[in-house]
Amino acid sequence: MTKPAWFDPTIEYALLAHQSPEDEQGYFVYQLDALKQHLAKLQQQDVIKLWFAVKANPLSKIIQTFDSQGFNFDVAGSGELAQVLAQGISPNRILNTGPAKSKKQLAAFLKQGVATFVVESLNQLIWLNEIVQDENFKKPTVLLRVQLQWPDGEKNPLGGNSLTPFGLSVREWQSVRVSDYPALNICGLHIFQWGNMLSNEKMYSLWEQMVAPLIKLATHIGMDLKILDLGGGLGIDYVGEGNTLVWQQIIRDLADIKAQAGVDELWLELGRFAVAECGYYVVPVVDRKINYGQEQLVLAAGINHIIRPAITDQPFPVTLLRQSEQVEQYFDIHGPLCTSMDKLGQLPLPEDVQVGDELVFGYCGAYGFTESMPFFLCHQLAAEYVMQKGELVEIRAAKPASTYLA
Ligand SMILES: *Cc1c(COP(=O)(O)O)cnc(C)c1O
Repeated sequence: MTKPAWFDPTIEYALLAHQSPEDEQGYFVYQLDALKQHLAKLQQQDVIKLWFAVKANPLSKIIQTFDSQGFNFDVAGSGELAQVLAQGISPNRILNTGPAKSKKQLAAFLKQGVATFVVESLNQLIWLNEIVQDENFKKPTVLLRVQLQWPDGEKNPLGGNSLTPFGLSVREWQSVRVSDYPALNICGLHIFQWGNMLSNEKMYSLWEQMVAPLIKLATHIGMDLKILDLGGGLGIDYVGEGNTLVWQQIIRDLADIKAQAGVDELWLELGRFAVAECGYYVVPVVDRKINYGQEQLVLAAGINHIIRPAITDQPFPVTLLRQSEQVEQYFDIHGPLCTSMDKLGQLPLPEDVQVGDELVFGYCGAYGFTESMPFFLCHQLAAEYVMQKGELVEIRAAKPASTYLA
């Protein structure tokens, strides 16, 4: 069996050598050198200002690696803010997005030095202006988050209009006059309502269709549009369709969008595209059986550690940690939770896979550990490791249920 392209062969030895009874319910490993190289490549351009969407992976070492490569940080709540500040990052490199910004939270963010906000409601706008006025804060930079809809039919670039709590429609924002908020520097628009895009053409055509309505809105409300933030949503080919985004093409396309929009700055907050590939999740097989003719594997952990396959229907790719010359066949791969939701996919593995073998899942650097549901059925929280100079370094140990049950 040849190892898949997403598997970095330089980590194989360390994973095989890692024998730890504490990690027998699964653990995460992040390859920081590979992450660093990838981020350096993303920064070799002068078209886009890059932010890291911290929700994709808030581990200290990951944040530090983004910091070392000149990324800024998008945080969506006080927990993420505290974690980024704890890494010594200056608050003027932090952007606050998120639909649930209370007046109290906005005040706390300003007090801690955050000066860039993506505002998602009229209340957020009014509250921010009031706090800055009352407390004499320096004028923050404010972007308004817009949620567009298209008429139903083939011309809809999103394939449908699903309503979310992120931002507001053009119609709602049109009631705003920028000059009514003198304490704020309202100079940008934010739009992000797509996910895991894998086609450069589709991504470009989506972005392009946003430009005209956004410029029109800015003019209508008296905004000098200086910043356009296009969020994240650049995809990872989890299921091996063979489609991947070409970064150089994205840069060319965005240079074009930037010119069309006539803005000084174009921002992206990357999550999975930046960090998914550097992460692995390793977990032992605890049982193998045939049920109604279907081969099944049961693992020591499942959606309690990596829930994403169950909520998106996209499995993380998997490989067997040891060598095997056997042909591959498809297995239904399940976790230990007593719910049929706990399935990590139907995936190919060598036919001699057996109880005690370890499996490695790929692209687990984003939306892994913190997205999951670790408490259900009282299993362990997974440890997180980074690879440094060929060795596994433990950043947070596994924790048994006794540490969180009361
Ligand atoms: C989650 C999120 C992102 C990152 O999304 P990816 O699809 O992982 O790139 C960017 N911006 C905002 C506002 C988000 O909520």
